[in-house]
Amino acid sequence: RSVMEKVLQRKSLRMRNMQRTWMESPEGKKLLEFRKSLPSFKEKDRLLQAIAQNQVIVISGETGCGKTTQLPQYVLESEIESGRGAFCSIICTQPRRISAMTVAERVSTERGEPLGETVGYKVRLEGMRGKNTHLLFCTSGILLRRLLSDRNLNGITHVFVDEIHERGMNEDFLLIVLKDLLPRRRDLRLVLMSATLNADLFSNFYEGAPTIHIPGFTYPVKAHFLEDVLEMTGYKLSSFNQVDDYGQEKLWKTQKQLVPRKRKNLITTLVEDALNKATFETYSPRSRDSLASWVPDSIGFNLIEAVLCHICRKERPGAVLVFMTGWEDISCLRDQLKAHPLLGDPNRVLLLTCHGSMATSEQKLIFDRPPPNVRKRKGRAGRVQPGECYHLYPKCVYEAFAEYQLPELLRTPLNSLCLQIKSLQVGSIGEFLSSALQPPEPLAVQNAIGFLKMIGALDENENLTPLGKFLSMLPVDPKLGKMLIMGAVFHCFDPVLTIVSGLSVRDPFLLPQDKKDLAGTAKSRFSAKDYSDHMALVRAYEGWKDAEREGSAYEYCWRNFLSAQTLQAIHSLRKQFSFILRDAGLIDVDASNNNRLSHNQSLVRAIICSGLFPGIASVVHRETSMSFKTMGDGQNSVNARYQTIPYPWLVFGEKVKVNTVFIRDSTGVSDSILILFGGALHQGVQAGHLKILDGYVDFFMDPSLAECFLKLKEELNMLIEG
Ligand code: ADP
Ligand code: MG
Repeated sequence: RSVMEKVLQRKSLRMRNMQRTWMESPEGKKLLEFRKSLPSFKEKDRLLQAIAQNQVIVISGETGCGKTTQLPQYVLESEIESGRGAFCSIICTQPRRISAMTVAERVSTERGEPLGETVGYKVRLEGMRGKNTHLLFCTSGILLRRLLSDRNLNGITHVFVDEIHERGMNEDFLLIVLKDLLPRRRDLRLVLMSATLNADLFSNFYEGAPTIHIPGFTYPVKAHFLEDVLEMTGYKLSSFNQVDDYGQEKLWKTQKQLVPRKRKNLITTLVEDALNKATFETYSPRSRDSLASWVPDSIGFNLIEAVLCHICRKERPGAVLVFMTGWEDISCLRDQLKAHPLLGDPNRVLLLTCHGSMATSEQKLIFDRPPPNVRKRKGRAGRVQPGECYHLYPKCVYEAFAEYQLPELLRTPLNSLCLQIKSLQVGSIGEFLSSALQPPEPLAVQNAIGFLKMIGALDENENLTPLGKFLSMLPVDPKLGKMLIMGAVFHCFDPVLTIVSGLSVRDPFLLPQDKKDLAGTAKSRFSAKDYSDHMALVRAYEGWKDAEREGSAYEYCWRNFLSAQTLQAIHSLRKQFSFILRDAGLIDVDASNNNRLSHNQSLVRAIICSGLFPGIASVVHRETSMSFKTMGDGQNSVNARYQTIPYPWLVFGEKVKVNTVFIRDSTGVSDSILILFGGALHQGVQAGHLKILDGYVDFFMDPSLAECFLKLKEELNMLIEG
C-alpha cells in the first residue's frame, strides 16, 4: 500500500512540474490570460473553498461564464498544485455527446496537452482516456452505466453534474442516485451546475446545499419572433393576437401528453394556424393561394429560407445556426438550401449540418473556422459577440414554453430508465422514482414496467430476468437490445446487427423531393418480394460492402439513392455493437458460428418480430381504391408499393401520427412467427382502431386481434400436445 502511495506521490510531483512549465510558456500564458477574463475566474477561490467545505454545492451562472470548461479545471489544477494530482479523479457529466467531446478537447488545449492525457472523454461507444486521465468528461448516461457496476464510485473524488437546469432524464436520475450514494461516500464531492437561477430547487433537494451564483457577462442577443419575421420576410400580419389564447391552450394540452415528438407538430401547427387565422397582406411574389397550399413542413422550410436570405443580405460576417427537430428535417432543409441561388452558392455560404447520429469528425466540422470570404438557440448566440435570435413561432408560444417546460422525466417513456433502476438494485421502481425532484406520473411508470414485462425483461414480480440483465448491459433501446441478443442466440447475427445499427443511426435510403418515384423503385429492388424494409436495408448494406471491395461504392450509392455517409455510420456502429456483445460473452469469437443460420430468411424475419414487438399491424386488403398515401417526405416503405401482401401481419418499429397513424419501416410476418416470437400477447395487444395507411392497403390493429391470438395459441397448444 505504501509502495502505491509513493508511486502516486512521485506521479503527482511530475504532474505539478508539467503544469507549472506549461503555465510559464508563452502559449500557456496567453491561454491563461483568456481564462482569467472569464467571469468564473473572479469566483475561483470562493468556489474552491466552498467545494472543500461542503459535500454538495450548487453553482449557477450564465452560458459562457466558464462553468463547464473552468470549474472542473480549477479543482484539477488546485489538486495538482498542492501535490495531490495523482490522487484525484474528477468526473464531469454532459447531457450530450458532442459537448462532452468538445469540452474535453478544449480543456486539454487550455492545459497544453493532447486529448486523452490528463483530460479525457467517454461517450457511448466511443472515448479517449488513459491511465493518466484525472478529469473525465462523459455523458450523464455513461456515469449512470458506471454506477451499475460500481455503486460507490470507488476512486472518484469529485462529480460535477452539468446543465441540471435542462432537467434531462439522465440528470434527474443521477441526482436521485447520487443523493443515495453521498452518505456512503462522505469524502465524495458533488457540484451541480446550472445556467439559470433556479438553484434553490436543487439546493432544497440536497437538504439546503449552499448555492453560489457567478455574476456574468454575455453579449446582448436581440430576439425576433414569428410576428417580426413574417414582416421582415415580406408577409405582414395585421391581426396576430388571435393566436394567443389558442396557442397557450394547445401548448398546455400537448405538454401533458408525454410525447416529445409532438412538439414539432405543435410548432408547425401553430405556424400554420397563425397563417390561416390571421388576415395578412403579402408583399412577396408568392400568392396567398400558393401559401395556403403549403404543407406544414414546407411552411417551416420556406420561412427558414426567407429568414436566412434576409440575414445573408445584410452581408455581415458571421455564422447562422438553424435548429431543427431531427435529422430528417435537417437533411431536407439542407437539400432545399443547396438549390437556392444565394444560400446554395459555396463561394458565399458554407452550409454544414450537425446531428448526433453523424460521425464525430463530421460533427466537429462546425467548429472549424470557415474559409475567408464565405460566410443555435438564444443561449448559443452571444458567447463571443453580440447576436440575434429568430424564433419562428409567436412570442406568446415562447412565453408559454418557458412557463410550461416540463422535465424530461415527465414527458418521455421510461423503459430504459426503469431497466437501469432495476439493475442498480435500489428497490422498487415506483418507490425510487417517487423520490425524484419532480416524480413522473404513476401511470407512466406502470406503462414502462408493463412494457419491460411484455418484452420479457422483468418477471411478474418486477425482478430482472436473465434477458433483462443482458439488456441493461447494452447501451441501446431495450427493444433493439433484445433483437441483437436474439440474433446472437439464433446464429443469424450479421443481418440482425445491420438492422439494429440501421435503426439506431437512420435510414440510408434517400428520398429526394423531385425523384421520389425513382428512389422508391431503387429501394424496392432490394426487397426481392420479401415484403420487408428491414431486409431491404440488409441487402443494400451488403451490396455496398461488395461495391466497396470493387471500388465502385460511389456509383453504387448514386444509382441506388443511398447515403454513403449513413452506410458508413451503420458500418462503424455494427463494429461497436459486436465488440460489446463479444465482451458480454453473447457472441462467439468465431464469426462463422454466429452466422450459421444467417441465410435463413424466415428466421431473420422472426428475430425482427421479436425485437419490434409489440409494434404489430394487421394487413387488410381493400380492393376498391388504388391510390395510397405515404408518410410525408420520410416514408418510402417497400410494402407501400405492393397490391397485396402475403402476410397477415406487419411488424414495425415506429408509428407516427399525422392525421391518421402511419407506420414507417415494416416487415411482413406470419401467424406462427408472431405467436412464437411475439411475447406475452394479452398485454401487448390493445384493442383499438389504429389506421395505418389510408389507401388500398390498410393496416390496422383489429379490435378482435386479442381474441384471434388466443385462438391461434390454443390451436398451437393442441398441435404440440396432440
Ligand atoms: P459555460 O459552461 O458557463 O457555458 P464554458 O466553460 O463552456 O461556459 O465556456 C467558457 C468560455 O470559454 C466561452 O465563453 C468561450 O469564450 C470559451 N470556449 C469554450 N469552449 C471553447 C472552444 N471549444 N473554443 C474556444 N473557446 C471556447
Ligand atoms: Mg457549460
